[in-house]
Amino acid sequence: MTQDTAAPRGMQLHTKILLGLALGTAAGITANALWRGSERLEWIIGNVTDPVGQVFLRMLFMVVVPLVFTSLALGVAQLGDLTKVGRIGAKTIGFFLATTAFAAVVGLFLVNTIQPGEGLDPAIRDALMRQFGGQAAEKQAAAESGGFGVQTFVNIIPRNPVDAAAKGEMLPLIFFALIFGVALTRIPAEAARPVLMVLEGISYAVTVIIGFAMKVAPYGVAALIFGVTARFGFALLQSLGMYVVVVLCGLAFHLFVVIPLLSGALAGVRPLDFLRRTRTLMVTAFSTSSSNATLPTTIRTAQQEFGVPREIAGFVMPLGATMNMNGTALFEGITILFLAQVFGVALGLQQQLVVVVMCIITAVGAAGVPGGSIPLLVLVLEMVGVPGGGIALILGVDRILDMSRTVPNVCGDLLTSLVVARSEGSPLVPHPLDPDPTVVEPGEPPVGAEPVPLQHASHRDTETQR
Ligand code: ASP
Repeated sequence: MTQDTAAPRGMQLHTKILLGLALGTAAGITANALWRGSERLEWIIGNVTDPVGQVFLRMLFMVVVPLVFTSLALGVAQLGDLTKVGRIGAKTIGFFLATTAFAAVVGLFLVNTIQPGEGLDPAIRDALMRQFGGQAAEKQAAAESGGFGVQTFVNIIPRNPVDAAAKGEMLPLIFFALIFGVALTRIPAEAARPVLMVLEGISYAVTVIIGFAMKVAPYGVAALIFGVTARFGFALLQSLGMYVVVVLCGLAFHLFVVIPLLSGALAGVRPLDFLRRTRTLMVTAFSTSSSNATLPTTIRTAQQEFGVPREIAGFVMPLGATMNMNGTALFEGITILFLAQVFGVALGLQQQLVVVVMCIITAVGAAGVPGGSIPLLVLVLEMVGVPGGGIALILGVDRILDMSRTVPNVCGDLLTSLVVARSEGSPLVPHPLDPDPTVVEPGEPPVGAEPVPLQHASHRDTETQR
C-alpha cells in the first residue's frame, strides 16, 4: 500500500489536531475575556463554531452503530472457537474491573488526604446551588426514571436490536452483536461466509468514513474547544479551585503514570511510546467528551499505531467504550466524598467501600456520551446519604472535567487491548504513523481493515506482522 511507505505529505494529522486544539483554546479564552455573555459571542458560537463541531461529532457518531455491530460480531466470529472468546472476554472484563477499581481507590485516597470540601466557602456553595439547582433537579429526575435494579440487567437483552441501536442503547446492541457472532460460529461455513463477507465490507466502508471524519478533526476540535472555553472562562474553575485541582491531578496521575507504566510492564510498549502514539486519540476524546464518539479513533489507533490484531481491537474496544471508564470512576469517587465534606456528611471506611463498589458499577453502567455518568452519580450520592441536589455544585465545571475524564477512559480501553493482545502472543508491531485510510489502492482494502480468512484470523495477523 502506498500510504504505508510514502513520506508524510505536509503536516501530520496529529500535529494538525493539536494545532486546532491550541488555536481553539486561545481564541475561546480571548473571546471569553472580551465578550463574555454578549450576544455577538453567542451568535458566533451558535452559528459558526457549534455547527462545525457538530459536523465532526456527527461524522463520528454516525459510524458508531455499524462499527460496534460489525466489529463485535466479526471479532467473535473470527476468534472462532468459543473457549478463546471466553478466555479473551474474561481477561478483558477482569482487566477493566481491576483498573476501574484502582482508579476509584486513587480518587478516594486523594480526596481524603486533601479534603477539598472542607475549605469551600458556604457563600459560594449557596450561590452555586441557586445557579445550577434547576439543572440538578433535571439530573435527579433522570436518575429516578433510570433507576438501578434487577431490571437494569434484564434490559441488557434487547426486545428489538434495531430499536436499541436507533436509541443509541449500547449494552443491548453489544449483547446482540456478541450473540450474533457466536451464532455465526455455530452454522455451516458456507452459510456463514456470505454474512461475514457483508460484515467485512461494511467494516471497510466504515474505516473509510472514519478517515473522512479525521480529515475534518482539526477544525472540529478547534470549534468544540472554542465553544467550551468562550462560554466557560476561568471564573467557575476558581470558585471550586481545590476540587477541580484534585480531580485533574487524579486524572493526570492515572493517565500519565498508571496507564503508561502498565503498558510498559504488561504489554511491552514503552510508556513514552504509548503516550506519543495516543496523541490523536487523547485530543479526540478530550474535545468530544465521549467514549462512543471516540470509538472509531480508538479502534484505528489500536490497529495502526500499536498493531493490535483486528479481532481483538474489534472485541475489546466496543465493550470498553461502554463498560470501562477509569477516569469516570476516579472522578465519581472524588465528587461523592467532596460533596459529603461540603454537606457535612461523615462517611466511614465501610461506607467508602460501598462508594468504591458503586463507582465501579456506575462506571460500567454509564453511557459513553458527554455527562453520561451524572445521573448515576446522583443515585450513588443519595444512596450514601448526601443530598442528590448537591450535584448542582459541580455542574458548572463538569464540562471540563468530563472532557478530562474521557481521556483516561479511552486510554484505559486501548491499554486493555494491548495487554490482551500481548497475552495472546501477538507481537504488537505498529503500522506507520498516520497513514491515510481513505487512500486505497485498486483492489486493496483500506489500512486497518486487512481481509482475514474467516477461520483462524488471529494466526494470519500474527504471521503478516512478523
Ligand atoms: N463522558 C464520559 C465518556 O464518554 C462519560 C462520563 O463520565 O460522563 O467516557
